[in-house]
Amino acid sequence: MRIARSAAELPNESEIGLVPTMGAFHQGHLALFRAARGENTVVVASLFVNPAQFGEGEDLERYPRDEERDTRLAEQAGIDVLYVPDAEEIYPPGFETWVDVERLGSILEGNHRPGHFRGVATVCLKLFNLVRPTRAYFGQKDAQQVAVVRRMVQDLAVPVEIRVVPTVRDENGLALSSRNAYLSPDDRKRALSLPRALAARDPSLLDGLEVDYFEEADFEPRVLAAAVRVGGTRLIDNVVLEGDPQ
Ligand code: AMP
Repeated sequence: MRIARSAAELPNESEIGLVPTMGAFHQGHLALFRAARGENTVVVASLFVNPAQFGEGEDLERYPRDEERDTRLAEQAGIDVLYVPDAEEIYPPGFETWVDVERLGSILEGNHRPGHFRGVATVCLKLFNLVRPTRAYFGQKDAQQVAVVRRMVQDLAVPVEIRVVPTVRDENGLALSSRNAYLSPDDRKRALSLPRALAARDPSLLDGLEVDYFEEADFEPRVLAAAVRVGGTRLIDNVVLEGDPQ
């Protein structure tokens, strides 16, 4: 595996699979890497903690970072190139062009994190333009992110195929997330009511947690999505509803 610190070091191949990430790899990331490895000649994973998708007072500064461990895990997963750009490459001096996916980017997560999806859509388009992937891989865990990126790709005719990988959970059902590292043992127990409430379609199971939303969303596929705060940690999760008899 090579580490590319600038776009000039990126591969120039006809078939590239791209997995955009913010690092602190877990089995969710590894599932995306496996999917990409299975269908592309060359696989690029990007590691960039995108400041533009964090709001003021959010966890940008304390977001978990461990490039050494991520490098090892990416290498073991068969990634060909780990792209670790400088912020100045993604946001050059004078940067002022943003992608705003208006409706899909402003409901649910977007309503609670203004500007978040503008940051997401913009960094994704930038990464697509720099890496020029045939396919890009995203997790169903972030269902609204998938909806926003798909909408952007369709609206702006971006030549990339979006692939979605099912949510990876731990043995208790908690969706893996880099932010789970913030949870104390007690928080972790309390956090389990999130997947349980979603599985039961029953928000009353979230009793005691601060709920930002617990709502059906008309994405493809349709999901029941929720965001809660456990201690100081904000967690999101969703379950797919398509074919749901309820
Ligand atoms: P992140 O590094 O958190 O920005 O995530 C990078 C990619 O991994 C995103 O497309 C996420 O949706 C995906 N991802 C994160 N957690 C999971 C998970 N538990 N299962 C599947 N995909 C995930």
